[in-house]
Amino acid sequence: MAQVYGRVALIGLGLIASSLFWAIKRGGLAGEVTGYARSDETRATAREIGLCDRVCDTAAEAVAGADLVVLCVPVGVMGAVAAEIAPHLAPGATVTDVGSVKADVIAQVGPHLPKGVHFIPGHPLAGTEHSGPRSGFAELFDNRWCLLVPVEGTDVEAIARLRALWEGAGAHVEEMDAEHHDLVLAVTSHAPHLIAYTMVGVADDLRRVTDSEVIKYSAAGFRDFTRIAASDPTMWRDVFLTNKDATLEILGRFTEELFALQRAIRTGDGDHLHAYFTRTRAIRRGIIEAGQDTDAPNFGRGGPKP
Ligand code: NAP
Repeated sequence: MAQVYGRVALIGLGLIASSLFWAIKRGGLAGEVTGYARSDETRATAREIGLCDRVCDTAAEAVAGADLVVLCVPVGVMGAVAAEIAPHLAPGATVTDVGSVKADVIAQVGPHLPKGVHFIPGHPLAGTEHSGPRSGFAELFDNRWCLLVPVEGTDVEAIARLRALWEGAGAHVEEMDAEHHDLVLAVTSHAPHLIAYTMVGVADDLRRVTDSEVIKYSAAGFRDFTRIAASDPTMWRDVFLTNKDATLEILGRFTEELFALQRAIRTGDGDHLHAYFTRTRAIRRGIIEAGQDTDAPNFGRGGPKP
């Protein structure tokens, strides 16, 4: 695959940055990749495992001379990081991010960037419940979507180049406006995470079911909630604080549906329950047909049956 950028700088060296680094190496997409993370510990780990061609001790050093800067930090600190790197950006460079929320990140980052620097917010729709510099792998973005959210008037060449990088990393790329992105993600990711966190929290509170029973019999659905509920607390705190309106709107709808299902159970309305579950099953089939999950029994997990 052809090189897309001469030098790429990754700011933040967690799951997404490390996966992007390995995908860039796999595809030969950049001449050099520099990296910076806030803690000595993460920078030392990155050096130890060969994450980045050059790990820098300051963000300023990492972005100097970079054609592309990718902000891979939690959504809540994007603005502070942008302010820190802004004076050191090369003219004509592109700044992008991978944050899970877009309107808030645009409001935080945009005002700090100097004229002549292209700002193209982005969001790869790929992740795991793991975090940190050791958690990344080159295949994370394969066959996943990456949404680009260019602000009005952005240079088309700069967008095409960033698109080529993500395609080289294995993703399918689409453009979307920020408000729509935030609503779509509230439905597909943010509200489901909050519900999973709640379900696991409720099980923890229910003292009539012992902890060992919850763990022992978890294959009955609970286990899949616990995987999502193990996601990084800082990242998810920031997602809910910055995608407030869309998440609250979806949770309002969710609560109404939950009440309707509660009523159907109480009144013995089996037709309602059956019709509802038939509709939701079709959505699952659509996800599998779109190649976004496996239909292997037990989510493709190996091992003995419980
Ligand atoms: P992560 O594994 O927790 O890594 C976060 C990185 O950001 C770490 O290297 C951390 O440095 C650094 N960082 C944290 N606070 C900082 C600060 N104040 N200043 C400078 N650096 C700071 O996170 P991730 O999962 O890669 O997520 C990164 C971004 O991708 C987030 O915006 C998230 O919304 C988005 N995203 C995540 C997923 C997912 O499933 N995880 C999917 C798509 C998009 P230290 O290690 O030194 O603390």
